[in-house]
Amino acid sequence: MNFYVMTLFPDMIMNGLNTSITGRAMENGIIKLEAVNIRDYTNDKHKHVDDYPYGGGAGMVMQPQPVYDCYNNIIKKINEGTPGDIEGENSEKNEDAGGKPRVIFLTPTGKTFNQQMARELAAEENLVFLCGHYEGIDQRVLDMIVTDNVSIGDYVLTGGELPAMVMIDAISRHIKGVLNNDISAETESFTDNLLEYPQYTRPEEFMGVKVPEVLLSGHHANIERWRRNQSLIRTHQARPDMFERVELDKKDRKFLMENNIKYGKG
Ligand code: SAM
Repeated sequence: MNFYVMTLFPDMIMNGLNTSITGRAMENGIIKLEAVNIRDYTNDKHKHVDDYPYGGGAGMVMQPQPVYDCYNNIIKKINEGTPGDIEGENSEKNEDAGGKPRVIFLTPTGKTFNQQMARELAAEENLVFLCGHYEGIDQRVLDMIVTDNVSIGDYVLTGGELPAMVMIDAISRHIKGVLNNDISAETESFTDNLLEYPQYTRPEEFMGVKVPEVLLSGHHANIERWRRNQSLIRTHQARPDMFERVELDKKDRKFLMENNIKYGKG
């Protein structure tokens, strides 16, 4: 998977993702990440990339030209099949290139990002992220290049860099070979509309508090049942909206009834 991030702060992206699991995946060549500086593509002699909004109002708006040219150079690179060497401001435009990747604009006005989206996007070969700053980006260039508008939650951040990093991290977990254990991504929170059960490790007793007995029993069916029950309780408490969508089996319903937890619409 090749990730390209169009940004005014490329160092922020590279420094944020160069460590830990995503850093190792880059080292192993499983994912490639390129943060491309939009400012390198401006035709303005003072290197400006923003201007006042037409119609007045607070703040500045990112201009379309640098974003459009930055995008075209990424497309050109993708079509040449050589990620990792985006050209500078004088490179040729490639507006008619085929095989366009999905271009994700990070914006509070987009569809809210979730685990299902992360899983789906992990199947792409190339993904381009566009990070806004100031009050946002001129709508004309967004209409020309963006395929998906995505928000990471109902709050406003100063730029799209953190949201892009959040998305790249979450998507990478679904790419084969990124996690040491590929099962992890399949059993984590949000799978089957459930939150994950509590986890424990050594020591068996910490400040007088013991690990739940069942986890020491070696009885796999009982452990699985206990974990499922814990997931049901957690999801019911923290995410009643998700809990409504859990597919309950006979044993789930019995457990919920015994614990006076209401389920179903009735
Ligand atoms: N004026 C915009 C609005 O009210 O919708 C907010 C602009 S925000 C200060 C600057 C940039 O940060 C946005 O263009 C976007 O790229 C990014 N951003 C802020 N909050 C975000 C969120 N919740 N999800 C994704 N991107 C976000």
